[in-house]
Amino acid sequence: MKSPPFAYARAGNLADAFAFLADPEAKAIAGGQSLLASLAFRLSQPTLLVDIGRLSELSGVTVSDRRLRIGALTTHTQLARNALIRLHAPLLAEAATMIAHPAIRNRGTIGGSLAYADPAAELPACVVALEATIVVASAEGERRIAAAAFFTGLLSTALAEGELITAIEVPVPELPMQTTSDRTAIVELSRRSGDYAMAGAVVKLTLEAAQIARARIVMFGVGEGPLLANLVSAALVSHDLSAASIALAQTALDGDIDPPEDQHGGPEMKRQLARVVLGRALTKIMTGSA
Ligand code: FAD
Repeated sequence: MKSPPFAYARAGNLADAFAFLADPEAKAIAGGQSLLASLAFRLSQPTLLVDIGRLSELSGVTVSDRRLRIGALTTHTQLARNALIRLHAPLLAEAATMIAHPAIRNRGTIGGSLAYADPAAELPACVVALEATIVVASAEGERRIAAAAFFTGLLSTALAEGELITAIEVPVPELPMQTTSDRTAIVELSRRSGDYAMAGAVVKLTLEAAQIARARIVMFGVGEGPLLANLVSAALVSHDLSAASIALAQTALDGDIDPPEDQHGGPEMKRQLARVVLGRALTKIMTGSA
């Protein structure tokens, strides 16, 4: 199908963008990799597309005060390649390589992915696992939202009308992750390489003297958005990372998720896929391949 007719305006700066977005029929466009498809399917019919793709205020990757700041316009390709991201948030770099295909990764942005909030998307789950902060702004000023509170349901977020994501801030441990006991991994199952996940798991563990001191597990593709698996986390804490504790975690997962049927299969199949990806993500950390 073709998109409905719309007008187009390129914002020169953030203030410009807010002025255009004051029109309730306007919508921001960044990489266009989700929005253009949703227009073609007539899932939304904005009368004005506001191109935010050249806003310097939404660009760049920096580290200061133990925070990695990733501009909302950072593309998936840049996430995978940027040296600061690879050092301080290797999970994001790894996840970015799982998104779609190179052409889409060259244009799609982290801000667009988080704002679109597809339940099977990798980056929303990663920012929840990393306890990131989503920095949003509007003509009224800036707000900072914990990633876990940002995703509010199927394709919906805490963004208010006229608000834009400007950046994502990830806490940085005192020493880079490779030399501390924090370990992360992401594993997903999809029908073909580049497809959205049928089920995925993001794992962040803090290991102390070979024991799991803290676990943060986020599942995706098995609910309306990224799901914090708190029962799994509780089951893992104070155990060593072994085949037995992985089995405990997989059993606990049943209480954390209630997958709806989707185009890939029914709830039981989704539960089984979720157990598999969780087991593989924990194994990846256990065997040191993460
Ligand atoms: P756009 O399409 O420009 O915008 C998407 C939405 O976000 C719009 O509503 C827009 O108004 C809003 N928006 C954009 N930027 C901002 C901002 N800074 N602040 C507030 N709102 C904003 N994604 C995955 O995660 N995993 C996949 O496996 C995957 N596979 C794909 C396969 C195909 C064939 C295609 C076409 C897309 C796929 N995607 C996948 C989606 C892709 O990653 C998109 O790039 C991403 O979801 C949206 O980023 P974007 O910059 O293109 O956003």
